Amino acid sequence: MSANGIDWFDERTWSVSGNKEEALGRIKSSSNQAAAAAAAASVLFPKSTLEISQYLSNDDHRDCPIAVVCGGHSSSNVATWPIFQNDNDGNEHQHGRTMIIDMKHMSSINVNRETLEVTVGGGVLFRQLAEACSKAKCALPIGTGPTVGVCGYLLNGGISGYFGRRLGMLGQRVTKMEIVLANGEIKTLVSPKALGSNDASGCDDGDNDLFRACLGAGSAMGVVTSLTIKMEEESIYRTGGSIVFACSSKSIAKTFLRKALSFMKERVLLSSTLPASTSMEIVTTSDYTVICTLMFYDSFDGDPETFVAPLRGAAKECNIPIVADGVSSHKTWFDAASSLWGVIDGMKGNPLVRMDHCIGTEHIPSDEALEFLLDRWFGSFLEKAPLTIIEIRTLGGAASSNDQGNHCLLPTSNVKCTFFADMIVSYDASTVSAEDKSSILAEVHDIIAEAKKRSDIMVDFSGTHGQSDDPATLLPDGEEVFGGKENYDFISANKKKYDPHNRFCYHPFLTLI
Ligand SMILES: Cc1cc2nc3c(=O)[nH]c(=O)nc-3n(C[C@H](O)[C@H](O)[C@H](O)COP(=O)(O)OP(=O)(O)OC[C@H]3O[C@@H](n4cnc5c(N)ncnc54)[C@H](O)[C@@H]3O)c2cc1C
Repeated sequence: MSANGIDWFDERTWSVSGNKEEALGRIKSSSNQAAAAAAAASVLFPKSTLEISQYLSNDDHRDCPIAVVCGGHSSSNVATWPIFQNDNDGNEHQHGRTMIIDMKHMSSINVNRETLEVTVGGGVLFRQLAEACSKAKCALPIGTGPTVGVCGYLLNGGISGYFGRRLGMLGQRVTKMEIVLANGEIKTLVSPKALGSNDASGCDDGDNDLFRACLGAGSAMGVVTSLTIKMEEESIYRTGGSIVFACSSKSIAKTFLRKALSFMKERVLLSSTLPASTSMEIVTTSDYTVICTLMFYDSFDGDPETFVAPLRGAAKECNIPIVADGVSSHKTWFDAASSLWGVIDGMKGNPLVRMDHCIGTEHIPSDEALEFLLDRWFGSFLEKAPLTIIEIRTLGGAASSNDQGNHCLLPTSNVKCTFFADMIVSYDASTVSAEDKSSILAEVHDIIAEAKKRSDIMVDFSGTHGQSDDPATLLPDGEEVFGGKENYDFISANKKKYDPHNRFCYHPFLTLI
């Protein structure tokens, strides 16, 4: 096997989902050396939009399937599946060898401080965007992973637990987008809102539709080579930080979490009006450390320390030690945006198996939904998969509001969520026994199947949150992913129109559209 094939996979693929682990073992085995050398040769590293356009329109490979990689973080590794498929002669796609387009060299960033816009190339990562944004003294609703791709996140409906309630979703801030379509055509799409009218005078309707479809399922429509995003002044962020509670067992953690969830519901969700003044995230690790992170925006006019007093009180009642307390420790937006980078950088297992599932509620969660979360989501996989975390976050606010200036509802379900919880089950594959691996997978699937039967919650609701390569019974339907039947039909129609031969078949929920 060519070292190149493995090197590329290791460098550009952050995690290996539970169902892909076996394939990784196969590709790394010495018997597949020649095939992997060929796979390595199927990665293109374009430096310009024109180069991508020329490749896609070239008669020699006009029909070959295309996978695009930006940050390589997709938990189902959808963009890197071709490495496995190309590896196996019997599995080659009907149109021939898949080409992987690795966007890492298209990493330009240009800031226009006057218009408060930043234009990023199709391969830019969050660390680069956050640094440029902070240098311009601005803020954006970004996610927490430093090496997550801006395009992979935005084009599949990413969410910002820290900033979304005040700044909306990143996709709602896109004013311009450049995309190369399946036939090689280059299109520059302008947001209808950016043109200053609701009906986008000056743009043809097809372009408006494509623009909108790209903000929910962009990776199924073409290769996005640049995005222009509207920023906000950094003064929208006041302060924030975390309190860390060392719960010594699952039962103590659950007792505390019940109180913390009630605080989240009553103090953060129910008491907030637009613009939202606070957001909250609760992370529980597999050693039952509970980390509560609060964000206070410019619209918050109280005292952060007083605000969180009930949480400290709850810990005292349960005799839980507070091991770190810095709820006002962030001085700037960038402090908050980069606060988890150090932790995440150290998390890359060898290989890291990661299974992501989510539940969300459109409105304030009922007490029954919160009990289901406490009862089922903190399962026995926590002991077997020691890198697992459960994240519970507030959303809503500007993200789900339709009348916030430049904001509009995106064709992705998570835009509707006021509350959601991620189950990120992770472990280092080299240290977990075969029995434990299959019992982890079976337990996660049981819990998700149970959650899907409930009417008070949604499951797996975007291309960035939720595993797409689970057994068919666990896949969400299109309405759950795209926020309703109308959106689902809209996305499917655009997919058929702009990519009729399905060249871009590596979208996380492709089987749905
Ligand atoms: C440590 C960590 C932290 C995270 N934090 C958050 C968070 O806070 N909020 C959140 O919402 N998500 C978060 N995620 C999830 C992340 O947003 C998704 O996994 C996202 O899809 C990753 O994008 P990527 O570009 O890194 O991955 P890739 O695997 O490279 O791409 C993901 C998908 O987008 C497509 N794609 C990428 N670039 C382009 C392009 N230029 N044109 C067309 N299609 C493209 C790919 O083909 C693929 O289908 C996190 C993930 C990790 C691992």
